[in-house]
Amino acid sequence: MKRAFNFNAGPAALPLEVLQAAQVELLNYNGTGMSIMELSHRSKDYEIVHNHAQELLYKLLEIPENYQILFLQGGASLQFTMVPMNLLSADKTANYILTGSWSEKALTEAERLGNTKIGGSSKAGKYSYIPELAELDIEQGQAYVHITSNNTIYGTQWQQFPDTKAVPLIADMSSDILSRRINVSKFGLIYAGAQKNLGPSGVTVVIIRKDLLEWTQDSVPTMLKYTTHAEKNSLFNTPPTFSIYILDKVLAWVEGNGGVEAINKQNQFKAEMLYDVIDNSSGFYRGHAEKDSRSIMNVTFNLPSKELEESFLAQAKAEGFVGLGGHRSIGGCRASIYNAVPVEACEALRDFMLAFRDKN
Ligand code: PMP
Repeated sequence: MKRAFNFNAGPAALPLEVLQAAQVELLNYNGTGMSIMELSHRSKDYEIVHNHAQELLYKLLEIPENYQILFLQGGASLQFTMVPMNLLSADKTANYILTGSWSEKALTEAERLGNTKIGGSSKAGKYSYIPELAELDIEQGQAYVHITSNNTIYGTQWQQFPDTKAVPLIADMSSDILSRRINVSKFGLIYAGAQKNLGPSGVTVVIIRKDLLEWTQDSVPTMLKYTTHAEKNSLFNTPPTFSIYILDKVLAWVEGNGGVEAINKQNQFKAEMLYDVIDNSSGFYRGHAEKDSRSIMNVTFNLPSKELEESFLAQAKAEGFVGLGGHRSIGGCRASIYNAVPVEACEALRDFMLAFRDKN
């Protein structure tokens, strides 16, 4: 069997070892005579997986004890709503830093629910960079500051995070969680849809500082309150058990590969390999992101013409590369090289890019 060179932006490549382990257990999980999908979410067998995934996440991301992990549904998109619903009160303002379409979408939902302001934006620069930290307009007394740590569509990534002091910093880390070490204690809340670095779609991980759980007004609907899920260890209702099971296996895979620091080294190696091709192509490949804002997860680039881009994508497809088209909103090309994309896939893409440039 030939596996594709999968550069999808999400859902994205999963570690082969994880898929194989799930395949072996698919019909008979741990001697239960059924698959994990058929087990009760109240069963001991499932509970062990559910808690183990949390333990691994605490360990791998070095999450302090005053944070709680939640497994929610509704994707990162529901967090665009849940964050302001739980944390934005009528007397306060939520501060959104715009670095791409996902930050804009997060802002739009907050605008429906309360007062907002834009404390920084690179929109005028076509979201090709992350604003300077010193230029951000952050005021004490604001409800929170919201950022998107990695901009999946534009291929930019925050290299450092702002010090928001007493104002909770909230980050959408959907496309770079677990790709590098972060200091969780700098954040009030982190959220991420699983389908890039964590596992399959269906589960959204929320890491919330426990004191923020007390901010929620009683009027917030039950399922949209963080406290509902926090009080019941994310088992208030039926969680996406299969997604959490795969998440657990992906986390074990990260641990087995040396943890986040080792994965980060490999991510940098893979990203540099592709950025080197772009930088040494005499302008044939044009990176969208400015160099100091480049993402190690999504490498975005254009070719000299639409025709060449089309032919690049068509030939790449014919050679077994999947997912290299840019997001439908901006076009161009994008290679998403999340944790589970093997070095060999990046090497194959590098070689393809070099050969394509030589021919054209
Ligand atoms: N935020 C970011 C940074 C994303 O990349 C995505 C999805 N590509 C989303 C949010 C939306 O995630 P979901 O589809 O899980 O709602």
